[in-house]
Amino acid sequence: MPSPGLQRIIVAHLRLAGEDPGILLLPFEREVREYVSYVSNEDMRWLVEMDPLGGEYPSLEEDKENVRRAYRIEARLRLAIKYSVASQSLKNAGILLFTAILQSLALPKNLRTKVEAASRFFDKRRPPIPPKKSEELVEMYQNLQEIFKGFLEVAKASLREGKAHEEGDTKLRAGPFTLVNTGNFSAETMTNVASLVEAAADLLGKKRLSKICYGDVQVTKTLKRADVLAFYMEATDEIFVRANVRKNPDTVQTLLHELGHRMEAKFLQGKEKEIVGIYRDLNTQSLVQKFREPSLPHPEKGESITIKGKTYFVLDTRYSPRAGGSYKVELATTPGGKFEATVPLASFVALRQGITKKPSGAFITPYAMKGGPSENFAEMFSYYCMNKLPEEQVRMLEPILF
Ligand SMILES: [Zn+2]
Repeated sequence: MPSPGLQRIIVAHLRLAGEDPGILLLPFEREVREYVSYVSNEDMRWLVEMDPLGGEYPSLEEDKENVRRAYRIEARLRLAIKYSVASQSLKNAGILLFTAILQSLALPKNLRTKVEAASRFFDKRRPPIPPKKSEELVEMYQNLQEIFKGFLEVAKASLREGKAHEEGDTKLRAGPFTLVNTGNFSAETMTNVASLVEAAADLLGKKRLSKICYGDVQVTKTLKRADVLAFYMEATDEIFVRANVRKNPDTVQTLLHELGHRMEAKFLQGKEKEIVGIYRDLNTQSLVQKFREPSLPHPEKGESITIKGKTYFVLDTRYSPRAGGSYKVELATTPGGKFEATVPLASFVALRQGITKKPSGAFITPYAMKGGPSENFAEMFSYYCMNKLPEEQVRMLEPILF
């Protein structure tokens, strides 16, 4: 894949030129053509028919030649598989093209879904791991060839069938953000999204973090999965929000989480060590805490708590030897009433603090633990903006933010 540097520069210039998807098609098409011709069909056919590495090491000079050829082809296949997402020029060309299409064209629904899938493909994806067997290498590369050819077709169809958004019709000011109506949504839908992003902007303003509130928010029909309300695309520094969201504390917090990713990507360069450091510290604390759980204060008998909208009263707190041993709070729906449910002591304490998700040791949510340093940062950031982050964690976070 020659001259990735030059491609990057060309693409960057095109980006400045106004993100006309028609212009962006050309560099993408060139990248795809280069990609699909990286290993020739003849070489692949030869490799599968010969399967020279499947058998014994050859003793004949001629076979050695074949083995060398096979290695050469396999190396190219591996590189091509890696390049499917690791090539900066291909990735940039893809991201810019499909983002520009999403931003500037109104598309029929099925086409829009495909464009969204294409734009996600290029964003933050890890290269697939090349398989060992030569046949499987060929198969994986051929699949990728088909994927890219498909993307090219999708882009061309979009340019043919898409209609340019009317300026003013599709853009709506929402506090410091501009909402882009990408799916012909009603004024009511757009107003709902506006109230959501404005609520997030308000909270960020109170924390003196208004600097991350800027730019376009793409309002779209479907995101990654049905349960994803919003996401941040690092490559283009854009926020996407699903059109049918309603403003409530959970959705505001989800948006703040995504804006936390922008905070890290755009404003905390050079603070990677600290962000990893917080994660590591919390991980250590979690391990220690596991053994300290009995020291959590037990709730008073009769104390009330709301779980999923239902009010319960504490009957007792008991040690349960099951599943490694832990303290459980026993609950009834009336004070001193009939035993109805139990909840782990740690969860009870978290619920009382207004943390609705299941706590995970020292981490604010299980996702913060599972997701690694960046996700933990975004989770902490969102809880911080919602004023729900425990004081110890505020003390860890603030020095990084300011
Ligand atoms: Zn995240």
